[in-house]
Amino acid sequence: MTAASALDFRFTANPAPVPASERDAKLVDPGFGRLFTDHMVTIRYSDAQGWHDPLVGPRAPLSLDPATAVLHYAQEIFEGLKAYRLDDGQVALFRPEANARRFRESARRMAMAELPEELFVESIRQLVRVDRAWIPPIEGGALYLRPFMIASEVFLGVKPASEYLYIVIASSVGAYFKGGAPSISIWVSQDYTRAAPGGTGAAKCGGNYAASLAAQSEAIREGCDQVVYLDAVERRYVEELGGMNVFFVFEDGRLRTPPLGGTILPGITRESLLVLARDAGLSVEEAPYAIDEWRADAASGRLREAFACGTAAVVTPIGHVASPEGRFAIGNGGPGAVTGKLRAQLVAIQRGQAPDPHGWLQRID
Ligand SMILES: *Cc1c(COP(=O)(O)O)cnc(C)c1O
Repeated sequence: MTAASALDFRFTANPAPVPASERDAKLVDPGFGRLFTDHMVTIRYSDAQGWHDPLVGPRAPLSLDPATAVLHYAQEIFEGLKAYRLDDGQVALFRPEANARRFRESARRMAMAELPEELFVESIRQLVRVDRAWIPPIEGGALYLRPFMIASEVFLGVKPASEYLYIVIASSVGAYFKGGAPSISIWVSQDYTRAAPGGTGAAKCGGNYAASLAAQSEAIREGCDQVVYLDAVERRYVEELGGMNVFFVFEDGRLRTPPLGGTILPGITRESLLVLARDAGLSVEEAPYAIDEWRADAASGRLREAFACGTAAVVTPIGHVASPEGRFAIGNGGPGAVTGKLRAQLVAIQRGQAPDPHGWLQRID
């Protein structure tokens, strides 16, 4: 059994990279998740060989046998993190070791092989090093890294696969919302839940997203941007959005976010904001918040702001909440002051424009 280490990465340059002039023209307005770089990382796993053959090679389509396990039973997990260009020209990752840990925890929940955390971080560093020219030189621009892993064993029996393929691709992205974050409206799903106790809610797996799309379509039909889910047991407590955690800001300056506990994805943005808020002297609590409390507090003015957070869109104000029982606004329906301040603090650290007291930035030479 061999254990791949950081030093073993082979490199095969893309023989036909996108010409620099074409690439730079695209980087002016990259959108989100449609523009990809020249390379990708692959690492293979088998029960017999362990993790082996780490490669940085040309980005290319996969060839999979139609009986590959992931195509049938969805044994798949992923991560999302960004590389930023700092004002001093260096490139940095934000807390990649936290993504590495979560990836391993997701793997364990899905009965998949656990990628060593240092190999995860090194795979990201390797890809960013070769494709750093793909970071858009625009406000809010970043390289969005998408590590993921699939069960690659060719077998239709239902069991944890004995072979896995880990891949990292990178996408040049702009600001999720141009000109800062407008506020979004969210639909309170009544018929659908995202995660149940004992389920996979805390794992970042594609299956959770597949299961969320019907609710998301319903939200769009109802004229909303996103779904917010209630807990699956009492159908009362606010949990999170389909792909973002949620925070509430009260008139006395207190912050609240629903507690983790197996049904909520432990967001790294969520955790970072909890730390920044405490650093700023705000009182923060991880405590349940019921939808009826939310409605009442929004009406009374006790609740001032609410926002969603995650790597892709950073911090996004929630302006309106709709459900079959009606629609209500939060504050004046626009971005709030505390939300704006927290967002600015986080972005300043990510961009190397503010001190980084917690050592969250990892520079890439
Ligand atoms: C990825 C994700 C988040 C946000 O996590 P970050 O680490 O902050 O990007 C929140 N909720 C769900 C369901 C997610 O998949």
